[in-house]
Amino acid sequence: MPTTLFVNAAQTVTCSGPARARRGPEMQDAGVRDGVGVAVQGERIVMVDTDDMLRRAYPDAHEVDCNRGLLAPGFVDSHTHAVFGAARFAEHELRATGVPYLEIAHRGGGIHSSVRSLRDTPSGVLFDLAVPRMARLLAGGVTTVEIKSGYGLSVAEELRTLRVIRQLAEALPARVVATCLGAHEVPLEYREASGGREAWLVALEEELHPAVAREGLAHFADIFCEPGVFTRDESRRVLAGARAAGLALKLHADELHDGDGASLAVELGATSADHLAAISDAGITALAASETVATLLPATMLFLGTGRQAPARRLLEAGAAVALATDFNPGTSPLTSFPLLLTLAVSELRMSAAEAWLATTVNGAAALGLAGETGQLAAGFSADLAVHAVDDYRALPYWFGERLCDVAWCRGRACHSSRAVVA
Ligand SMILES: [Zn+2]
Repeated sequence: MPTTLFVNAAQTVTCSGPARARRGPEMQDAGVRDGVGVAVQGERIVMVDTDDMLRRAYPDAHEVDCNRGLLAPGFVDSHTHAVFGAARFAEHELRATGVPYLEIAHRGGGIHSSVRSLRDTPSGVLFDLAVPRMARLLAGGVTTVEIKSGYGLSVAEELRTLRVIRQLAEALPARVVATCLGAHEVPLEYREASGGREAWLVALEEELHPAVAREGLAHFADIFCEPGVFTRDESRRVLAGARAAGLALKLHADELHDGDGASLAVELGATSADHLAAISDAGITALAASETVATLLPATMLFLGTGRQAPARRLLEAGAAVALATDFNPGTSPLTSFPLLLTLAVSELRMSAAEAWLATTVNGAAALGLAGETGQLAAGFSADLAVHAVDDYRALPYWFGERLCDVAWCRGRACHSSRAVVA
């Protein structure tokens, strides 16, 4: 089998170690090494060692010159809503005048405007809109991305969205993981009819989630567990049903108000609890004692202009497994520049650069149940890697807003190249 060597890196962030989420003192060691490269055969990494040792082991290999850049695992963006119709510029300004996010949603804006837009947009157009958005995300060195439905909000429209996501998974060079977020909101037409709210919960339980599991359209089911959206009891009921149908679980939990969503995620054995900006002390304790990954989305809190962030330090110090993701969506986080997330991690969440790297690689993979497959440069793992045009792992969060990813490979194949970029 032909071998490719990635050599001549100034520095290599391996993130190598156990194939599970890192926590506690492990978060201080991102496996940063000098003079180390990677050998790839087919879709797999077969060796991580000095350039000399790699060349000795594989004398006939093709070489990719890292040009004294930074060699690293491909990033894992474990939380996006990347399939949508129109952007939502107006709301951004409206919030700046002081109208809160949940108030905009109650007026029929927010999620509901994306629902109208998605329903009016043919599948082929949704696909065509998503492709360049995803290309921008991958251009930052992302090789795995989770995409949620949730702007369809009818059984048929949710299934249609998930089929667009499946089409993207087949067409994109990156790994795509699908999540069904039919429980993003109560659809307006169900809200207005008497008993409609209950009817939507029944539709999720009896129609949507079984159909998604049957067709293999998503790996995860997710819910927006938040006071004013879905209650804790409703979330428990819907997710328990989804789990019984065969789906793994995620929660949008404690984003703007504490609804005790984090402890529900733990109780249900959810793979991740996401947002957590308003998490309680009890929620932190519960997550720290569990396998559930705490996924923080600092771009959302920044873009909403809330002036606050999830308590990343308290989560880390309690021993929770912390991951970071973009929450890429048209309303609250239109962010496709993934490396900016590392800047926000350091500047807003007070994380170290090593913590930021692990939270966007190994722990992002764990948040998708993929910690044994991707997120680290180690023999046996998927050949998901990126070369960034910087010579120190701390430089990526530092040069914020820049596009410094030189090349990225997913499953042993090039998925992005931008050889003109200069650090
Ligand atoms: Zn979200």
